[in-house]
Amino acid sequence: MRRFGAGTEYFGRITQLVRVSPSHGGSQRFESSYAHFKVIQDKFIFWSRVCVFLCLGAFEARKQQIGLEKIVPDISVKDQLKKIIDLQKIDAEIYVLQLQLKEKPALMEKMKEEFEALKGRLKGLEEKMKAAQVNRMEKELELKAKEDEISKSNAQLSQIKTNKEYTAKIAEIEHIKADKSVIEERILLSFDETDRINGEVEKEKLKVAEEEKKYLEKKKVSEGDVRIIEDRIKVLDSQHHQAIEGIAPEFLSRYERILRHKEGLAIVPVQGSTCGGCFMNVTPQMINAIKMNDQLVECEMCSRILYIEDNL
Ligand SMILES: [Zn+2]
Repeated sequence: MRRFGAGTEYFGRITQLVRVSPSHGGSQRFESSYAHFKVIQDKFIFWSRVCVFLCLGAFEARKQQIGLEKIVPDISVKDQLKKIIDLQKIDAEIYVLQLQLKEKPALMEKMKEEFEALKGRLKGLEEKMKAAQVNRMEKELELKAKEDEISKSNAQLSQIKTNKEYTAKIAEIEHIKADKSVIEERILLSFDETDRINGEVEKEKLKVAEEEKKYLEKKKVSEGDVRIIEDRIKVLDSQHHQAIEGIAPEFLSRYERILRHKEGLAIVPVQGSTCGGCFMNVTPQMINAIKMNDQLVECEMCSRILYIEDNL
């Protein structure tokens, strides 16, 4: 009974009166009135609840329609904007550093690939050199075989009895000598080739040694840069956590959503009548709305939050 308040107490009192009154003919009339009041009481409670429910619904809808800032008087939009601008400075640096951090492995990989390509070229030349040497050794074996053939044929000359056979053998020996001469020529050329390749190999070795030095130096610098960036990000992260204190959760989530989708830039100043993010025109109505300082105004083109420097 008590939880329904004064109205219920009133009905309770009536009930009491009815019960303590002497039972004359009017008792039935009182009970009928009480039942009537009870119906009214139930209706009153029901409709009160409906009203409260509707009011809460309307409140929520209004909040979504115009933004909480308009109906929460203890949040100063001006103060929030200042806090968000400070936060943006930190987050902008974090965004740039994270981009640099993301690019570093690719840059290091590119440097490594260039160096590996150089080493690959040297390896190719060394293989070419080996192939030329193997080729020359084969030619030297061929030469040796031709010399053996000539010696053998020369030895056979003394055993030949007819002129015809002798002439044929001499011709055969001359033929072998001609082949031998071609092989000797090829061996000489092969020496020239291996000398030339050897020259290239030595030159390339020097180049690789020089480039390896440069590559290792760059790698060291790059790894150092990564450590510096990571350390700076750690410092900025801690500053970020301090900076978000005091920013209303609704504003913060709105800011973070824009930050994620707009390349690390969520809040920008209006420069003249231009958005500092997308450089499109900001209408006078929007400028007036920003000057009111009672809500966060977003650019119609890029959706970034806008502020006017002098207004803060
Ligand atoms: Zn814009």
